Amino acid sequence: MLSYSTQLIDEEDIAVVTEVLKSSFLAQGPRVTQFEKDLCAYTQAKYAVAFNSATSALYGTYSVAGIQEGDEIITTPISFVATSNMFVTLGAKPIWCDVKLDGNINEKQIEKLITPKTKAIVVVDFAGKPVEMSTIEAIAKKHKLLLIDDASHALGSSINGKKIGSFGDISIFSFHAIKPITTSEGGAVLTDNEEFAKKLRLFRSHGMRKKELWNSDMVSMGYNLRMTEVAAALGSSQLKKLNNFIEIRNKIAEYFDKRFQNKKLFLTQKLEMNTISSRHLYPVILNPELHCPKEDIFRELQERGLGVQVHYKPIYKNSFYQEKFGKVSLTVANDFYNSEISIPCNQTMSMQDAKYVADTLLDVLQKYSHRGCSF
Ligand SMILES: *Cc1c(COP(=O)(O)O)cnc(C)c1O
Repeated sequence: MLSYSTQLIDEEDIAVVTEVLKSSFLAQGPRVTQFEKDLCAYTQAKYAVAFNSATSALYGTYSVAGIQEGDEIITTPISFVATSNMFVTLGAKPIWCDVKLDGNINEKQIEKLITPKTKAIVVVDFAGKPVEMSTIEAIAKKHKLLLIDDASHALGSSINGKKIGSFGDISIFSFHAIKPITTSEGGAVLTDNEEFAKKLRLFRSHGMRKKELWNSDMVSMGYNLRMTEVAAALGSSQLKKLNNFIEIRNKIAEYFDKRFQNKKLFLTQKLEMNTISSRHLYPVILNPELHCPKEDIFRELQERGLGVQVHYKPIYKNSFYQEKFGKVSLTVANDFYNSEISIPCNQTMSMQDAKYVADTLLDVLQKYSHRGCSF
């Protein structure tokens, strides 16, 4: 099965992990510090704080940013649930902003959602495509709101040569197995704000500060959300290969773009000039006549060896959210959910694999295009 996204672990990765296992430090230590330095060097952000997952990193971010009961957070429903779960658990309310057909938040609709209770704007660079940062940064600045980028898809993406991770106030990356690089499980927060970085370091490790000899002082509430040395060593090793991964994924994506040009049955995600996408996902957006047979299309693609997936069910459609906040319905987000399928595009694929994916997709969509919807 060709997966929509998967890890690529090589002998060098295995060697560095083995070396850590033979060393004296296994929990957070010098390799975590090194991985954080590597992330800063790669993204040009000033501070990096590693966590055991992006979910933990989001929880840390929202907590140290002071998000609390009564706050409103403007965010996108087209994301993994953790993006909003971690501020909802702090008592804040999601204010859903509709998306565009590329899956990114519609920057033109953000400003009208701002109220005196708004505390932050949380965006997601869907599939690795950067959001409209200049517009959104200007809105955040004008209204004195925090801009948080859940960049879990977008390590290696950039706008005019400036890497995702260096925009807004805080960015979060995920190193889950199938994200742009992996530490097996892992995440990180990147920021230029020293105060946030200091608070995040305390937050991930019991709120404790070392003093002298045996003495330490717990100065704020904290948890154990630390990354392990094993994970960090794998992260540094993987980061060296990221540009190569991105090159391979982009080569496949550009081949798909060519093959799918002028196809009437679906759209693909167009990138803006001067941007690079990590191509974490390659989403195809089916035309309305293919919405009804989508389940059959999905099943047949899987039967023919394409490990496809749908990203994402709008977060507000989950029963927890419906029960807590009532029913919400946004036109484009709903439509996006009915339309989207992520097809295999990963760094383990050959161009022959890519050809098989394109041929199979076109064949299957053609087959179902005549069925349409029977209302
Ligand atoms: C994967 C993902 C997360 C969660 O990452 P974990 O490292 O698994 O906790 C959060 N947000 C987005 C957009 C993601 O894709």
